[in-house]
Amino acid sequence: MADSAYDEECDYLFKAVLIGDSAVGKSNLLSRFAADEFRLDSKPTIGVEFAYRNVKIGDKIIKAQIWDTAGQERFRAITSSYYRGALGALLVYDITRRTTFANVKKWMHELREYGNSDMVVVLVGNKSDLAQSRQVSEEEGRNLAESEGLFFMETSALENLNVEEAFLRMITKIHEITSKKYL
Ligand code: GDP
Repeated sequence: MADSAYDEECDYLFKAVLIGDSAVGKSNLLSRFAADEFRLDSKPTIGVEFAYRNVKIGDKIIKAQIWDTAGQERFRAITSSYYRGALGALLVYDITRRTTFANVKKWMHELREYGNSDMVVVLVGNKSDLAQSRQVSEEEGRNLAESEGLFFMETSALENLNVEEAFLRMITKIHEITSKKYL
């Protein structure tokens, strides 16, 4: 039973990554998304964790393998192996900490350096439940996403708001792009 996400047959397997500053909520977003068919795993050698989740789009079963930095972003130790083969990314900031938003450009730079050029990126403003401590408006987030050519969504991992939607937007778009390429 615990192995169902691994063992169930799938039509495609995608890798996607979570990036963004420390403590913006990446791990909580991932465990929310993967909670039902959960299997957290790790590659201690490169210091990452990942989880799988199967998603049905039309008549296809997509297995999304989502990588998390496991705290390594603090040490700048994540590099090309983290991004290798990834077709999508959730770039997360914390709406209550402006520095995490200011650093989005730095993460974009890293994505461009190490990631696939046609990677699907969703900019995610997390912790939308903390409205009283908000430092970054939704409009600012949306404008930045537009100027960088990213999708945008505000989420709350705590209240499970828009979490599923953010991941599904990325996965659906990846599926759209890859099925056009290979059909
Ligand atoms: P990571 O370092 O980016 O993986 O961040 P974590 O997932 O470990 O979360 C960092 C902290 O923020 C933890 O104390 C979480 O409980 C908290 N947190 C994560 N997501 C949310 C959220 O949506 N709302 C609130 N209020 N707190 C959150």
